[in-house]
Amino acid sequence: MSSSADDATTAAAGRNPARAPHVPGAPAIGAHVDPADPIGAARALGLDAVQIFLGDPQSWKAPYVVSPGGAAALREAAREAGVLIYVHAPYLINVASPNNRIRIPSRKLLNATVALAAEVGASGVIVHGGHVTGDTDDAVGFDNWRKAFEGLDRACPVLIENTAGGNHAMARHPEALERLWEAIGEYDPGFCLDTCHAWAGGMPLPEAVDIVRAITGRIDLVHANDSRGDRGSGQDRHASIGAGTIGVDVLLATIVAAGAPAVIFETPAEAVRADIALLRERYR
Ligand SMILES: [Zn+2]
Repeated sequence: MSSSADDATTAAAGRNPARAPHVPGAPAIGAHVDPADPIGAARALGLDAVQIFLGDPQSWKAPYVVSPGGAAALREAAREAGVLIYVHAPYLINVASPNNRIRIPSRKLLNATVALAAEVGASGVIVHGGHVTGDTDDAVGFDNWRKAFEGLDRACPVLIENTAGGNHAMARHPEALERLWEAIGEYDPGFCLDTCHAWAGGMPLPEAVDIVRAITGRIDLVHANDSRGDRGSGQDRHASIGAGTIGVDVLLATIVAAGAPAVIFETPAEAVRADIALLRERYR
């Protein structure tokens, strides 16, 4: 799926001229929005990209397109509006888990989410790196990731997101990320850098961009979030730009350095407009 970045760039180039003028080299900028009317939200907020859930992110139930008209209607509306769609997989998914009753449904749900995301023409499916628990060797988790990819029909690019907490996370510390990529690199997975998770997980910013890219070779998407928790706190608590502990300049420098084709804010709706305006300033 090495074409994901190219696809996203191509689609971004065809964006609706009613939105902010496109500056060469600027990413598609968007936000996580209500799946009931994602394209309406994109129009209202002037977004180049949206991120949505396909159904309930806290449920094992089969994914579905929440907006009226299903996958075909959403795909067409997004194409017409020139808006990229990213799908965030449910939070329950943990394909690394040593527990059958979590790992097997996780694989099924990830496969179903990727299949449906392909139907809506999504640019990628974002899934958390997951973790192993208790006294399980981390190696089991990395191997479980390999098996998950082995059985995955990647009709849509899969972007693994770094996480903030836990001592046995598969995508928190650089050492773990390196082992994860050793296990699944042959499948050419994508990567989503969450700035809040990187910072709270203990990585320095903006250096995390180079640290991560040296391992994954790519950053396909940035989740642009400030962090309520301090660096290394392990807390997954997003904040709007400037409302957290990262600092405005460091956060914006990180987003720009990542050079990803798209940037998604997962921050409180009231502040998203201001966050986006602040980031767009950097590309003028
Ligand atoms: Zn995120």
